[in-house]
Amino acid sequence: MLENLSGIGPKTKQALSHLGIYTLEDLIEYYPYRYELVKKSNLDEKEEDESVIIDGSVTNIPRVVFFKKHMERMTFRIQADDRFVDIVIFNRGYLKKNLTPGTEITVFGKWKPKKNQIVASQIRFGKLEKEYVECVYHLTSKITNQKMIQWIHEALQITKPRPSMIPKVIEEKYHFPSKEESILEIHQPTSTVMLKKARTRLKYEELFEFLYKMILLKEMRKKENGITRKIPIEKVKQLIAKLPFSLTEDQRDAVHDIIQDLESSSRMNRLIQGDVGSGKTVLAFIASYMNFLSGYQTAFMAPTEILAVQHYQKAKDLLEPYHMKVVLLTGKLKASEKKQIQQEISEGKADLIIGTHALISEKVNYHNLGLVITDEQHRFGVQQRRELKNKGLTPDILYMSATPIPRTYALTIYGDMEVSNIKTRPMGRKEIITMLFSEKQIRDVLEKMYEELKKGHQIYVIAPLIEENEESSAKAVDTMYENMKKAFGKYYQVDMLHGKQDGKKKEAIMQSFQENKIQILISTTVIEVGVDVANATMMVIFNAERFGLSQLHQLRGRVGRSNLQSYCLLVSDYDKERLQILTKVSDGFQISEEDFRLRGSGDFFGVRQSGDMNFKLADIYKDFSILKHAKEDAELFLKHKDYQNEEEKNNFTKFEKSIIHLD
Ligand code: ADP
Ligand code: MG
Repeated sequence: MLENLSGIGPKTKQALSHLGIYTLEDLIEYYPYRYELVKKSNLDEKEEDESVIIDGSVTNIPRVVFFKKHMERMTFRIQADDRFVDIVIFNRGYLKKNLTPGTEITVFGKWKPKKNQIVASQIRFGKLEKEYVECVYHLTSKITNQKMIQWIHEALQITKPRPSMIPKVIEEKYHFPSKEESILEIHQPTSTVMLKKARTRLKYEELFEFLYKMILLKEMRKKENGITRKIPIEKVKQLIAKLPFSLTEDQRDAVHDIIQDLESSSRMNRLIQGDVGSGKTVLAFIASYMNFLSGYQTAFMAPTEILAVQHYQKAKDLLEPYHMKVVLLTGKLKASEKKQIQQEISEGKADLIIGTHALISEKVNYHNLGLVITDEQHRFGVQQRRELKNKGLTPDILYMSATPIPRTYALTIYGDMEVSNIKTRPMGRKEIITMLFSEKQIRDVLEKMYEELKKGHQIYVIAPLIEENEESSAKAVDTMYENMKKAFGKYYQVDMLHGKQDGKKKEAIMQSFQENKIQILISTTVIEVGVDVANATMMVIFNAERFGLSQLHQLRGRVGRSNLQSYCLLVSDYDKERLQILTKVSDGFQISEEDFRLRGSGDFFGVRQSGDMNFKLADIYKDFSILKHAKEDAELFLKHKDYQNEEEKNNFTKFEKSIIHLD
């Protein structure tokens, strides 16, 4: 129990829980994110504002003055070797009683040579006997690094880590240190070499455990009995022939994949990944038609209500001529409408049900749900599948993602799914011209916007935050709105969309934009996914540096949805080298590869539900070679189950049970 550690009471427990720490085991598996060498500084070598560490003894009684509302400023002097230095520290008045003259302390802070002063961030009692390496942990405001170090130190003495998830045979094969040794080393490193070994071992374990789970889930699903259908191919062909365009080759391949999955007796668990605008939605509709032809209902989950409405309108146009009943079920329906639609669903009158993720979490009674389609699947993971199962539903599942990732990574991140890639773009699409501007060049940006407006086209403007606050100079939607109104409001309609508006309001604004009653639409990233307005030909993104490349690529995919030439203007004063990539590369697969290279896989946690893939140390990109080994090993181990002892066997059996339970 955490309470067994010194100084941990209910408040601290609460603070620790915000870091995901609930037990002693969690605590010792809370790893430092970097290490710092703690070493006495030579002040003569240090410049203004550099970080310094010195030790000495207090020479006078500290003075505390109060200012502003709750601020305290404490000053005193120390003798450090042969010189005197003034120390200033804020809001640490409670230390005064312990800082009596003669007390030996170590001070961490910023050096102000002109004032012969250190603005301290930390004071520790005692001198710095010798240099050492200190772990630095991610913290919350209630917890200091010193406390964390102390608790982990204590915890390491009274608790053992959870059982190793690397089988003994594999541990021996790589000469890995044990889990216990590795955890000790990571918190109390003895040497660079040992630390590296420990980290590699722990990364391997995370990856092995994840891959083991993925492989097992996939195997189980293959054995699971799904719906066996016979798809009347001719009818499907007729629908496809009536589309206003012909399918691209990749789209046709995906249709084939879907037919095979639906006909096969095992449950479908397929991901279709392709750039925005690559034409995934139409595939979803075709799949729902196949499912309808075989007599089942389809639930189609969109990431936002706006998109649900858009999909609904399109689906109705396409599918109702084929006698499919399409309904929209969203949170803001009137109670009576909702009841009516719920009834149509439970009686099996509704064939395609479109809504947000509430479609599975709410109390919707399906008549015979055969297929679930999730657009922008990262809100749908193992957990959601389980929710369905708890309701007695085991439909086929089709995921769609507009954050395509290269095959190698997809194979691991989506290890439990089959993947279809849409790489070719629909014919006649012009590439989006992307340009990078600095804040100073705002006039040029406005001019470019004006050119598009004159042509009768519409523009999206992305501002990253809702309210401007002191700390961030990010352009708020509100400010942006005022500015754009000043610039264009005389001749063009400007409006804004943001997270704080209710669904009705948002929808009304989207509708007006769609009807070209609004020419400039300012928003946060609410519109990031899926919105489709063909006449919108320009996307302007302020503070572009705040976004990942893939995210920016997705945003710009909102334009270029017709044969009109479209533009994306990125405005930023930072990180230009990275942003420049977007002006040159237009393939989403390649862009995500760059994203991986530059930022590691951390930002891709969103791609999979974070609960499915939460690595503390491992990074899919940076640790790719470890990952490759872990994958082969996991496959092999699952085949041979080469347990070395009873304990290991029990441990893995327990793990497998928890996975089976998940599905
Ligand atoms: P995604 O969902 O992949 O972002 P959409 O399915 O919304 O893309 O497709 C974008 C637009 O392209 C839609 O208007 C759609 O009707 C159209 N489209 C889809 N496939 C093709 C195709 N093969 N040829 C031409 N246009 C297509
Ligand atoms: Mg889509």
